[in-house]
Amino acid sequence: MLSVPGLDNRYLQQGSSLLRKMSQLQRIAIASSQLQQGQILLTKEQQHYLGRVLRLRESDRFIAMDGQGKWWLSQLAGEQARVLEALLVETELPISITLMVALPKGNGFDEVVRCCTELGVTCIAPVLSDRTLLHPSPQKLERWRRIAAEAAEQSERSFVPTILEPVTFNTAVSVNQTIHRYICEARGEYPHLNKVLSGISDEIIIATGPEGGWTTEEIENAIAFGFQPVSLGRRILRAVTAPVVALSLITAACEV
Ligand code: SAM
Repeated sequence: MLSVPGLDNRYLQQGSSLLRKMSQLQRIAIASSQLQQGQILLTKEQQHYLGRVLRLRESDRFIAMDGQGKWWLSQLAGEQARVLEALLVETELPISITLMVALPKGNGFDEVVRCCTELGVTCIAPVLSDRTLLHPSPQKLERWRRIAAEAAEQSERSFVPTILEPVTFNTAVSVNQTIHRYICEARGEYPHLNKVLSGISDEIIIATGPEGGWTTEEIENAIAFGFQPVSLGRRILRAVTAPVVALSLITAACEV
């Protein structure tokens, strides 16, 4: 866990209880490259944020997170921060979940990214399906990644989910090799997602469609690539609700 030379290991065993006591501390995201020999070299923006926005003073403590699973209790020291100790964070799910979402119209995807990050998603793959109405600008990807980072921070996750560049649905289904692959289909006699989730201990991919639903060809293509169609219940959920429901069911099944 500890990757910073010269730090005290004693606290690591007590990590999670220590963390609970630290829930009042402010958290900021840093790049791993900013950490050098037990010091965090703060950027001008981070100095401004800590000093002017959060009103921290010299020697005040905060938590630095690298978004890749590492958290450090840190202490402000001028333009740098001193790392006091590494923290053990245990907020991640025991399995990896990739959510493939046909982009909903408007800003609906913002909410999908935010909610599914809170729920513990590992990777979000926005896809352009036959009935997708939105064709996002390159700035949208930046925005979604920022939303994921903020949501991961607020829900005290140690990892920030990866948001992939949008690709066509047919490309996305063909490149994934994960064993457990499901596609949510609102109509038809398919098993409920609840019924197929037992015994998954590694990775899962789940796909949800756009407002107009998947085309028959898309469902057939997904099945040809090993996706199993599943139901989320008897009611038709909105395109932004379905991913949240799917994620909730998966987290409930795999988290004890
Ligand atoms: N217009 C489609 C129709 O009438 O069949 C409904 C599409 S729904 C608004 C958007 C997506 O959410 C669907 O493509 C599916 O992936 C998912 N979805 C919504 N309700 C669902 C349900 N009850 N079971 C499985 N998937 C569902």
